[in-house]
Amino acid sequence: MTRVGFLTDPVFLEHRTPPGHPESPRRLTSILERLEPGGLLDRVARIPVAPATRETLAAVHDGAYLDALSLAGERYLDPDTYLSARSWEAARAAAGAACSALDACRSGEIARAFCAVRPPGHHAEPGRGMGFCLVNNAAVAARYAQRSGYARVLIVDFDVHHGNGTQDAFYDDDSVFYFSTHEYPHYPGTGASTERGAGKGLGFTRNVPLLPGSGDAEVLAAYRGAFRADAAAFRPDCCIVSAGYDLHQDDSLADLEVSDEGVRTIVRTIVEACAGVPVVCVLEGGYHPPTLARCVGITLEELLR
Ligand SMILES: [Zn+2]
Repeated sequence: MTRVGFLTDPVFLEHRTPPGHPESPRRLTSILERLEPGGLLDRVARIPVAPATRETLAAVHDGAYLDALSLAGERYLDPDTYLSARSWEAARAAAGAACSALDACRSGEIARAFCAVRPPGHHAEPGRGMGFCLVNNAAVAARYAQRSGYARVLIVDFDVHHGNGTQDAFYDDDSVFYFSTHEYPHYPGTGASTERGAGKGLGFTRNVPLLPGSGDAEVLAAYRGAFRADAAAFRPDCCIVSAGYDLHQDDSLADLEVSDEGVRTIVRTIVEACAGVPVVCVLEGGYHPPTLARCVGITLEELLR
């Protein structure tokens, strides 16, 4: 059995959002309530979370933006994105969790990991938070991986929304490949198939937009086809997964119709395509708590295989 790490921290519950907001602490408590009695957490290594340092965050984010995030005071960054008293602390820990997972992979303690974090990250751009996201956890992890010796980093993003922030961070970079499947047209509006990177990064961004109503057949065709081919050609040294479960048919924030078995096959395809290199999953979306919890369990089962 593969050694798998699981990373979470109570501080992730301290990122508060207004009443009725879909990105609530309930998302994480539902995951733990399901996984603990099921015995899955007995099969993984619990890895402690070290908050990301300013230097680690600044590899992706502008200093002025980080300064603004660190200022005390509850406020909205945009109509969807709220900053509560301890959100900055939670955001640093969320990015730090992915980095801690990479450290544990590098030391040989584990081979793969799942980071159950919030706030999510993939909409956060270098100079701007948006779409429930403050710090781009996957992007920070990718830069941290490179400084740890993993030169070529593959980021795969199966959240139903396009990861505009992640794409933006690496658009002209040929050392980080960004692969995304997402509903399109949909929030945030980016992610057309014609967005393929720029300069030396041309060809190192792949967007697979999916029409509303698409289900397992369409999504799995993308993973079995384009994703496998891209991973084989890119030959990554490690893989960061933006694991968003709002692509599920039970999730009301979007209109893809992926099933539990579809999620299982996506994760299995990623793990198989990245055999032999670390795979670190970082939680993004997923707003139907019972389904989110079930799908995180499915993901752990596949990482453990
Ligand atoms: Zn999403």
